[in-house]
Amino acid sequence: MEGEWQTVKSLVDSNILPYQVSKIIPLVCPYCHSDIIISSNLTRMCCSNEKCPMLVANTLELFFKELGIEQFGQANCLDIVYENDIYNIYEVLDLSWEQMPQRYTDDIKKKLYISIRNKLNQPIAKIVKALHLEGINDSAFKLFGDVNSIEDFYDELEEFGQDYIKEKLGINYGIRTASIYNVLMREKHQIINTVIRFNIIEVASKKIEIVITESVSNFSSKDAFIEYLNGKFGNKYNIIRKNSISKTTDYLIAERKTNTSKYQKALNYGIKIVTSEEFMKALESGAV
Ligand SMILES: [Zn+2]
Repeated sequence: MEGEWQTVKSLVDSNILPYQVSKIIPLVCPYCHSDIIISSNLTRMCCSNEKCPMLVANTLELFFKELGIEQFGQANCLDIVYENDIYNIYEVLDLSWEQMPQRYTDDIKKKLYISIRNKLNQPIAKIVKALHLEGINDSAFKLFGDVNSIEDFYDELEEFGQDYIKEKLGINYGIRTASIYNVLMREKHQIINTVIRFNIIEVASKKIEIVITESVSNFSSKDAFIEYLNGKFGNKYNIIRKNSISKTTDYLIAERKTNTSKYQKALNYGIKIVTSEEFMKALESGAV
């Protein structure tokens, strides 16, 4: 943050900036005609309208770069956003090839269109990172690295709130988790829709929800175990790890009898309790 932002116009009107400045710096945005604002140290300037096509285009450019879609520099992004009234990044996937920048021939439009389509099926964490949301960037892989379904992520986030973020990041720092939580909730619509459109993968035939208590033998972490399973059995099963036992849990993975609350709850709910090896054998034989 650069401290207070003020409109260039107000600074010129109150003689804080000399009148001549208005000959050099635009007072209103050329795209949406909202006031241009400037940071208190005068180093940054932008449009005051959060939905300005220029700002949306900047975000889109960063988004494409992050996903390795290279044909979209500033000019192309601005054209797409401006010509099609795009307000949300995910809307670019609803465009047809004919809606690529008008200044191009049909052949080039088709090539641009295909370059976006070719980059579907990206990992959820990468898609969220590419949105460049304040404070989420650096944590995207910790937050979403093991997420199989963005809707499930939000179900848990809404149920457990900031605790869910604390657990994922392995921190206990309230201010940071609060700000991440607020951004995730504020941008929920944008995040879910973008992920759904850019993470189109073949839906696995069967969803299996598991909870793991304590650790998994022969695996460095619970996440490593899930990653292994989905790598090996992903064409048949979509294995999702939850943090707590609920009525929808299919299996509790426990290497031994323990007194953990997960174990006790699984017993109470009558949920199948298996070791990691038994679970893998069941997946192998299809007896799940
Ligand atoms: Zn603007």
